[in-house]
Amino acid sequence: MSTDRIRRFLAQAPPTPFLVVDPAVVTARVREFANELPGSRLFYAVKANPEPAVLRAVLAAGGGFDVASPGEITACLAEGARPESLSYGNPIKKAADVAFAFSHGVREFTTDAESDLRQLARLAPGSAVSVRILVDGPASATPFGHKFGCVPAEAVSLLRLAADLGLVPGLAFHVGSQQPDPSAWDTGIATAAKVAAEAGIRLRRLNIGGGFGIRYRELVPSLAEYAAAVRASLAAHFPTPPQLALEPGRAVVAEAGLIRAEVVLVAWRGGRRWVYLDVGRYNGLAETENEAIPYRLDAGDGERGPVVLAGPTCDGDDVLYQHTPCELPLALQPGDRVDILDAGAYTASYSSVAFNGIEPLRTYCLD
Ligand SMILES: *Cc1c(COP(=O)(O)O)cnc(C)c1O
Repeated sequence: MSTDRIRRFLAQAPPTPFLVVDPAVVTARVREFANELPGSRLFYAVKANPEPAVLRAVLAAGGGFDVASPGEITACLAEGARPESLSYGNPIKKAADVAFAFSHGVREFTTDAESDLRQLARLAPGSAVSVRILVDGPASATPFGHKFGCVPAEAVSLLRLAADLGLVPGLAFHVGSQQPDPSAWDTGIATAAKVAAEAGIRLRRLNIGGGFGIRYRELVPSLAEYAAAVRASLAAHFPTPPQLALEPGRAVVAEAGLIRAEVVLVAWRGGRRWVYLDVGRYNGLAETENEAIPYRLDAGDGERGPVVLAGPTCDGDDVLYQHTPCELPLALQPGDRVDILDAGAYTASYSSVAFNGIEPLRTYCLD
């Protein structure tokens, strides 16, 4: 997907590689979430794309922010976000990070371990704290594994402890990013209902995370379909539904962006045609690790044939697709452009170090 505004910008042919983002798409997506899940609060996951214009576009649609560090808090406040619209969703935080957040007015946190919960009670007294439960989401393209979330029995005791420590308890989960299976949310919502019942707490807030998929090469449910599944699960598992919080990142910003790259080299190796681009694993395409995200490519018309697609660095892992089928025009030459579609999320934000002297991915936000 690329908007007319993006097409007009591309006509100016700035040097590649770069990401171009249309913030109007971001605003529209946040509004769509609000329409599909009325009464919920949306916290855009800043790590997907922290460009100031993207943050302003979220604000314009009335969204808040899921922040993971003092740096992200500062970035959101600088664009005019109110501290009450920030939720500190990272369970991994230093004491100094909690103190920073609290002193800047943040009153909403997520936790999944007792020591972090006690740290919150000490340094962010009286705050709303959601206990993140581990939810299995095997269909996710980029699963979290066991890094975050506690098992239900531990969540029960943390929920009680949070209340005992004078915090306002809630529950949270995240089904893994690019999650094409809406029933993953049902598992999370059912588990949350059970945990709350066992803890003897009437759940007021439930954070169902991000993970809403977008269409790269394969069809995923529409936002309306995800939302219908979530509403049905809530009705099935809660007599009085809690207020929902959402933390979408990818589904808000991916479709707002396009990466324009250029072919550096075409070569035949072991009977396969290798195409090397000026963008790769280390300057924007981190999510091609394990070929997790199969981006759609547009390199113009003409007869196509299969390629192995690789990035420009001297690193052997900087190969984008060698198993994922990839077809590009047979006439492709060095200097030709290749567009990577729906690339607004988890591209420039992962590209923060100039590995091999290649600059981090430049981003242009249209106004
Ligand atoms: C990364 C992250 C998100 C955003 O996930 P998406 O799959 O991009 O929607 C939301 N919540 C937390 C806690 C995260 O770490």
